Amino acid sequence: MLIAATGLAPMKSDPSSGLSLLRGLTRKCPSCGVGKLFASYLKPRDSCEHCQESFAGLNADDGPAWLTVGAVTIISVSLLFILESSGGYSYTVEMLIVLPTTIALALLLLPLTKGFFIAALWLLSRKPNT
Ligand SMILES: [Zn+2]
Repeated sequence: MLIAATGLAPMKSDPSSGLSLLRGLTRKCPSCGVGKLFASYLKPRDSCEHCQESFAGLNADDGPAWLTVGAVTIISVSLLFILESSGGYSYTVEMLIVLPTTIALALLLLPLTKGFFIAALWLLSRKPNT
């Protein structure tokens, strides 16, 4: 009502930091949460297809890979420890379980961590409200 009376365009509300990071983790635009963050498996879009927010210059570099390696290592080593301590499996069976699990986890987590890093970089690149 006030906006219509003053003739000013409504201001775009900024999402909270946690919400933006969650949106990045789900591979959505950290600004609107509607547009897709990636054009393909790991290739980020230049801008959001919904709100036109630019993602240019948000290069996550090796951060997502390091985070993925850390998480996958913790999970895979824990799984290997559980299998080994149960004592019921041969080394071949353990490797047939742990190796595909490790590869699948890495492929699953890498786009998620990359989305998270891009959302974090997007948050850091924004100018603080004054
Ligand atoms: Zn968007």
